[in-house]
Amino acid sequence: MSKLPKWAADLTEKASFIMPDMKISEVVHINQNLKKIRFQGDLSRMNFQIGYANIIRVSDTEFRNYTTSYHNIEEGYFDIIFHIHRNGVGSNYIDTLKSGNELKVGIPRGKKMYEQNVKHHLIFGDETSLGIACSVLPLLKQNKNEYQFYFELDDENRNVPELLGLENYTIFSKKDTFRNELWINSLPIFKTNEWNFANYILTGNVKSVQTFRKVLKDKTQGKIYSQGFWLEGKKGL
Ligand SMILES: Cc1cc2nc3c(=O)[nH]c(=O)nc-3n(C[C@H](O)[C@H](O)[C@H](O)COP(=O)(O)OP(=O)(O)OC[C@H]3O[C@@H](n4cnc5c(N)ncnc54)[C@H](O)[C@@H]3O)c2cc1C
Repeated sequence: MSKLPKWAADLTEKASFIMPDMKISEVVHINQNLKKIRFQGDLSRMNFQIGYANIIRVSDTEFRNYTTSYHNIEEGYFDIIFHIHRNGVGSNYIDTLKSGNELKVGIPRGKKMYEQNVKHHLIFGDETSLGIACSVLPLLKQNKNEYQFYFELDDENRNVPELLGLENYTIFSKKDTFRNELWINSLPIFKTNEWNFANYILTGNVKSVQTFRKVLKDKTQGKIYSQGFWLEGKKGL
């Protein structure tokens, strides 16, 4: 539900059991295009799972989905990493948010994407997937999983995974790589059997997710969890 009539959007936002009040306690500009915001409030109704997302109202009639990158129940806060891409109403709204602002944030909902008992995990995404990457990393380590992150990033964001403390990642250019089946076929994961039964978590750009998914389905027997987070020319997903 990325768009609703204003009266329905008002009603949704007023339902405090699905959209509790939050206060911004901290804003970190990771760089010009990525902003981490800490939301403080009552988390008692929040169930954080890898793959779930929170909705935020970004205009009179529109909501957008964003992923919790870290949460601390005892201290009552969670963080979201926002890609400020400057092409949409959500990005523009998030760009204006400051410490001390109050807003409602939806309780996390969606599809679970992580199975702790599976040994190998490959996590693919772009700037919009950095939150899911940060949230899953502690679990991958705690459960002694084997893991790799593949990120396709704009050139100016190439150093962000390091700034966020991510590990075992490979960074790719967005210039026509994960949209190209032949190129995907040549990735190192297809050169050994190790990744044949891995779990694959694919998020980010819809076209990249779809193309990578198609190759994985042809070439591996792994389980694929995929969700496109945004698509060129499409408002809200
Ligand atoms: C389950 C889920 C979880 C998500 N988690 C996050 C998250 O943690 N952080 C985050 O930043 N985003 C996340 N997203 C993606 C975010 O919701 C979309 O990028 C959304 O489109 C942003 O809304 P907007 O109003 O800024 O742009 P829209 O109005 O939706 O789109 C306007 C135009 O902007 C362009 N556009 C949209 N997103 C991007 C982008 N990322 N890069 C470049 N161009 C873009 C498109 O071409 C589109 O035509 C998530 C999406 C889903 C579905």
